[in-house]
Amino acid sequence: MVNTAAADPIVAIATGPGRGGIGIVRVSGAAISPVTEAVLGLQASELVPRHAVYSRFLADDGAEIDRGIALYFPAPHSYTGENVLELQGHGGPVVLRMLLARCLQAGRTIGLRIAEPGEFTQRAFLNDRLDLAQAEAVADLIDATTEIAARAAVRSLAGEFSRRAHALTSALIELRMLVEATLDFPEEELDFLQQSDAVGRLAHIRSDLDELLKRAQQGALLREGLNVVLIGAPNVGKSSLMNILAGADIAIVTAIPGTTRDRIEQRINVDGIPLNVIDTAGLREATDEVEQLGIARTLAEIERADVVVHIVDAAQSANDAPVLQYVSERIGRAVPLLTVTNKIDLVHIEPCVEGKRVYLSAKTGAGVDLLRDELKRVAGWEQETSGESVFLARERHLRALSIARDHLAFAAQHAAQTDSQLDLFAEELRLAGNSIGEITGEVSADDLLGVIFSRFCIGK
Ligand code: GDP
Repeated sequence: MVNTAAADPIVAIATGPGRGGIGIVRVSGAAISPVTEAVLGLQASELVPRHAVYSRFLADDGAEIDRGIALYFPAPHSYTGENVLELQGHGGPVVLRMLLARCLQAGRTIGLRIAEPGEFTQRAFLNDRLDLAQAEAVADLIDATTEIAARAAVRSLAGEFSRRAHALTSALIELRMLVEATLDFPEEELDFLQQSDAVGRLAHIRSDLDELLKRAQQGALLREGLNVVLIGAPNVGKSSLMNILAGADIAIVTAIPGTTRDRIEQRINVDGIPLNVIDTAGLREATDEVEQLGIARTLAEIERADVVVHIVDAAQSANDAPVLQYVSERIGRAVPLLTVTNKIDLVHIEPCVEGKRVYLSAKTGAGVDLLRDELKRVAGWEQETSGESVFLARERHLRALSIARDHLAFAAQHAAQTDSQLDLFAEELRLAGNSIGEITGEVSADDLLGVIFSRFCIGK
């Protein structure tokens, strides 16, 4: 691990922009006592570690900028693992900027500079206070849009996800050690797999990995949300359906075909799962240029969709075939599709689900809950894994786990061959372990770290 003892001291406003009761300026570095002495007028030794001290925050000329609480966390028992000084003053943007400027001025001699986004957390990672998955969980907790997502982020932050990943890498290393020990005694290779139950161990690791991947996939759903695209001929009720799903009047609803010319996106919360619902221009052979543009965008949305909801009008004769053909001709990949037969209030049908078709009324709301359940089901949200055991995973984690799963599948193939080659078996185990190690940062490239931490907010 890199040691940041020689890194520049950094400072930032740690609380959100705007007005608030309290605002915090945080300083972190190896030698930050000049800031303490100048801003508080106190010797660092006068600050009891981790004890709140009520103090004046002083300008260069001794005038008072603010007064508040100073907290000193000596290394290594701090968020970053370095010495950290927290100044908790009043949460006004001007006073906080003045306090920040004062710290920079007082810290000039020690090279104090404003922190980059995520730099406090990056230092926590570099100083082994957090692993990479935990550091990411910090950002995810801050960005969580639903309670379930926030709870899942806290679980990752507490290290639950990392522990599972780590248990897998340890099991892989153990198995690999066994294999490599045997490689030195080639005459015993053939018996090795049976004797050490390598195949059984591998099967066990693979099943644990599948379980972790499943939970991580659920977590990715919580983090990213599900892209739901509403399509259908003009006037079938796309905007109305979006409104009733969202619970607010966000799309323009009119009886003139072709009104929804542009996409309207709304993030809605269905039982804690964020859905990005995109209402798109009605699909038809438009002559109007503006509408043609809208249709082109609709197709682009469909390409990115997790689920396409195709809406038809119950009162009109079945008119979905041309639209579906239009879509399938233009989209290369198969996208999960749900059909909604809307306006059942006009034809007196009861709300129900038939295969991949939901009968509902966007006007009365009858059957909309059935659609919500279907959306969750199509998205792969499983009730039994939902809630308490999900980890708020990122695309990067899913990729690492899937790559590991592929390597373990190859390893199993090698093991199944009668003339199995143990060196290839061991190599697949090693590659799988490396891939999982990327999750916690045991194995990581510098550019990966740059990408991860640059997405944080400043002051974290
Ligand atoms: P869009 O063009 O597909 O977005 O369709 P809109 O949502 O603008 O709806 C077109 C018309 O159908 C409006 O007059 C709506 O009030 C009406 N409408 C939408 N859903 C229903 C429904 O379930 N029942 C009835 N009776 N009318 C509906």
